[in-house]
Amino acid sequence: MKTIQFSVCVYCGSRPGNDARYAEVAREVGHWIGSRGGQLVYGGGRSGLMGIVADSALAAGGTVVGIIPQALVDRELAHKGCQELLVVETMHERKRLMAERADAFMALPGGIGTFEEFFEVWTWRQLGYHDKPVGLLNTGGYYDGLVRFLESTVTHGFLADWQMDLIRVDSAADRLLPALVQAAGFSAAAHLDAI
Ligand code: AMP
Repeated sequence: MKTIQFSVCVYCGSRPGNDARYAEVAREVGHWIGSRGGQLVYGGGRSGLMGIVADSALAAGGTVVGIIPQALVDRELAHKGCQELLVVETMHERKRLMAERADAFMALPGGIGTFEEFFEVWTWRQLGYHDKPVGLLNTGGYYDGLVRFLESTVTHGFLADWQMDLIRVDSAADRLLPALVQAAGFSAAAHLDAI
């Protein structure tokens, strides 16, 4: 059995978005994880960026764990190609398992599902429920408005600097992924030749 080098949970859109850069970056993220012997943990669907990141990780030789609530199996097109497809009862169970199975978290462009998952792992981190790194991939400036808003909440006194510092925001996947994997205590480079 293949040794899994690290495990990254990726949150991203169940839609592809209307800029080709979003699909490109989903492909890049899946490839980066898969080609380094990593494991992708994600929502288990084939739709939108979710399907692209999973297909790319699989094509690069990675291990993919999809976790999907029964009620979404048809709507989000459950991905039968994952090495592990866990069909669970509830959204809460999905998110709990995704968090448990990952060493680090990363949100790509997406919609409210992505936002909710990103904010949840960030809030869990600030409460000390876990100590895993959390990243936001700001492809093509997609999250510029959100980052500006979050910075303004510091100015308004509702968020402390240290809370803001718990997330890493970067526009480049090939900077953010190694930073997250290394912050989680793993080497991000050494395993390319181990595949
Ligand atoms: P979206 O970013 O809205 O396209 O959704 C991306 C993923 O987030 C999908 O797999 C959704 O099922 C999932 N998701 C997680 N939590 C929620 C939630 N509370 N509401 C809606 N979608 C969610």
